Amino acid sequence: MSLTDLYQEIILDHGRKPRNFGEIENPTHTAQGYNPLCGDHVTLQITVHDGVVQEIRFSGSGCAISTASASMMTQLVKGKPVEAALKLFDRFHKSVVGTADGEADDLGELNCLSGVRQYPNRIKCATLPWHALKSALLQDPDPVTTE
Ligand code: ZN
Repeated sequence: MSLTDLYQEIILDHGRKPRNFGEIENPTHTAQGYNPLCGDHVTLQITVHDGVVQEIRFSGSGCAISTASASMMTQLVKGKPVEAALKLFDRFHKSVVGTADGEADDLGELNCLSGVRQYPNRIKCATLPWHALKSALLQDPDPVTTE
């Protein structure tokens, strides 16, 4: 089995059995993402306490790549400080747009997705959940309502 086949297998496995799929009762942070190029929808719900991602779940529907990316992302950032999660966004983004050198140890299984850099129209599938993560984490958990 080549490395590419192995990566394919891991992506398909996450696509079929997404981890952390579902909803959280009282999330502190939420965001939605939509990729019109492919039709992927993702909703992220996150609970942050003391600056740490305690719980993170996603729902929605998308292709195998966006689902696998969301699944691996939730596994990776759960339990990590918000700052570390935002750094991982940058690492992952660089790995799929092709400006990072080689693979990144801190990305784990997400390195499987670095192959999408060869398919520019799939890059948005892979980065969609990450953009949702970033926008969720950067928003104020207690939004101010102005009149
Ligand atoms: Zn897609």
